[in-house]
Amino acid sequence: SFQHVLSESSDSDCLNSFSSLVCKKLANIHFSRTSSLIFNNASFTALSNYSDNFGHLLKLAPAAVLKPGEAKDIVKLIHFVYNFNSKIKNRKTKIYLACRGNGHSTNDQDLLNKTGIILDMSELSSILHINTNKLWIDVEAGILWLKLLKKTLKLNPPLSPRSWTDLLTLSVGGTLSNVGVSGQAGRFGPQISNVLEMDVVTGRGRFITCSPKLNSKLFYAVLGGLGQFGIIVRARIPLRTAPLKARTYTAVYNNIQSFTSDQKMFLNDPKKLFDYVEGSINVSSNPFTFTIELVKYYNNSSTLPTDSYLASISHFKAGSLIGVDSTYFDFLNRLQATVDYLISIGTWNFPHPWLNLWLPASNITEFYNSAVSSSNATLINGPVLLYPIRTNLINSQTSLAFPSDPSNVIFLFAILRTASPEPTAISAAEVDNLRLKTAAIALGGKGLFNVAYTKTEWIQQYGSKYARLSKYKKMYDPLHILSPNQHIFN
Ligand code: FAD
Repeated sequence: SFQHVLSESSDSDCLNSFSSLVCKKLANIHFSRTSSLIFNNASFTALSNYSDNFGHLLKLAPAAVLKPGEAKDIVKLIHFVYNFNSKIKNRKTKIYLACRGNGHSTNDQDLLNKTGIILDMSELSSILHINTNKLWIDVEAGILWLKLLKKTLKLNPPLSPRSWTDLLTLSVGGTLSNVGVSGQAGRFGPQISNVLEMDVVTGRGRFITCSPKLNSKLFYAVLGGLGQFGIIVRARIPLRTAPLKARTYTAVYNNIQSFTSDQKMFLNDPKKLFDYVEGSINVSSNPFTFTIELVKYYNNSSTLPTDSYLASISHFKAGSLIGVDSTYFDFLNRLQATVDYLISIGTWNFPHPWLNLWLPASNITEFYNSAVSSSNATLINGPVLLYPIRTNLINSQTSLAFPSDPSNVIFLFAILRTASPEPTAISAAEVDNLRLKTAAIALGGKGLFNVAYTKTEWIQQYGSKYARLSKYKKMYDPLHILSPNQHIFN
């Protein structure tokens, strides 16, 4: 029998007779000693952490949570669910599974109602092996990128993955299932372009090792696959020698065209002057202005570009260039201080009706002029990111939906809003998100991180990829057990 039931449940404790049945059956599965099963207790507190996520926009309580300690427990659980579901006809009494990396989704992607079991991946977070000759690291998929980085920087010489997210407390499985993008993606591609091999448990309960050469269909389906085809349990991430330091240059622009064309110039620079290109829209000024963010890694400061050289090749406002030095680690972990501050003032737990979009580079000025420039800054209430990445660094076989552009450049546009916890504030933000999403789609843009919700919108989002992904869904998760709240196939 299972070892660590955090909160024992009796029939009456479960939300209804169906989740009670699920709980009873789960309790009869022989999971490994390191796994934990969590059911609701009488006051329904045991699962409260799992009925909410970073979005704080809705609450959905699952029937139970499994914290697998070993990948074989995921195989056992999926076999149980697969067999259970294959015998029933009524959709309403099917069991569903959703993975929780670190709960940083903003809609219901990693939540389930009482017919669902959440797989909390946080215990599957070990570093399995580091190959310092071939320069890769094998990790369990529940590990946070921060833990991985701390480990590789302790090696001699210090090593590091190449591609990052702005925040490091995201799980490897979570970002590989989405995209994993930050200013380094312009040079190295997003994190889904920086994986050598994975172990995946499919929706049929099959444990499969996959790579670009081995079971490649599953490999690419899972990358950017929003948890639809399998659970990533191990990933092999390529490493490079870590630099010691980073200099972050910021500079201000008054107009969108010179801002984005300088971003593209640095992105496409054959000399690879910068290791990171990002930028943001400053909505606190009227009219809005723009800040470019460029980072150069270095060991020796003589390799850094001089301010006068940068001024001679760029179009930023004279006198606005600032350079700040930090260690490589502090640069990558730069958001943690802000997160700690927002936690301390309580707003980290406020609702986050975020919007993330891709726009083709050719239409970015039109999108900005027609939809963004006149936005209500009070309603935005958070950072607005705008930066380019190169589509030729994203394998088109992955499941990621992204626009095409003749220049091979697309822009990420993100509004990271914090709304006050009143329904009117949240719905005003959501109406604004819909307005911007509609404008972006009309200009060839796509949603990112589950911006599209209905099946029709998903078909539009994936375009010609939809047929291929539907085929893979039939192959790898024919009973539609996995991550139903992405709303793609269900
Ligand atoms: P969760 O949100 O818990 O899981 C999300 C979904 O991923 C699940 O529903 C499931 O479908 C899937 N999933 C999770 N783990 C697995 C697994 N092991 N196997 C299969 N499917 C799985 N993204 C970026 O690209 N760049 C950023 O800079 C960035 N910054 C962020 C900053 C903040 C503050 C927040 C809240 C989010 C940010 N994100 C960023 C988005 C982030 O990548 C997604 O939220 C992603 O889901 C990772 O979060 P998570 O590990 O908490 O996964």
